Amino acid sequence: MPSIFTKIINGEIPCYKIAEDDDNFAFLDINPNAKGHTLCVPKKEVDKIMDLDEEAYMNLMAFSRKVGKAIEATVPCERVGLSVIGLEVPHVHVHLIPLHSMKNATFQYKESMGPEEFEATAEKIRNYLK
Ligand code: AMP
Repeated sequence: MPSIFTKIINGEIPCYKIAEDDDNFAFLDINPNAKGHTLCVPKKEVDKIMDLDEEAYMNLMAFSRKVGKAIEATVPCERVGLSVIGLEVPHVHVHLIPLHSMKNATFQYKESMGPEEFEATAEKIRNYLK
């Protein structure tokens, strides 16, 4: 059965899309640690990051860097943190998290955002990437 992220990539489940290239897809995390929290996902469904081949891994990291720089430029924060962690969705995903303090890195504190704020945030990041 396809992962929820494969369904997002295929357009079967909606998301606040940020960017895509041939191999990767980025969208806002629906339960963000901070406003602008973004997930970067390889289109090829692989469960664990260490199982990506080297080329796919390097591609994902380069893509995540590009998206992370756009977040840093458009979402007020001290810096963007990058984390590959979590057990919920068995499809590799890089968390890009705008950090205001280390509480944003803990996955304990969650930011409440409505649809309009999600869309406005995604649009700002997308526009920077254009
Ligand atoms: P984990 O595998 O523990 O990193 O958790 C999966 C992450 O994906 C969590 O941060 C969720 O909030 C996020 N997530 C799950 N479903 C969706 C979705 N439909 N759209 C955006 N983010 C999601």
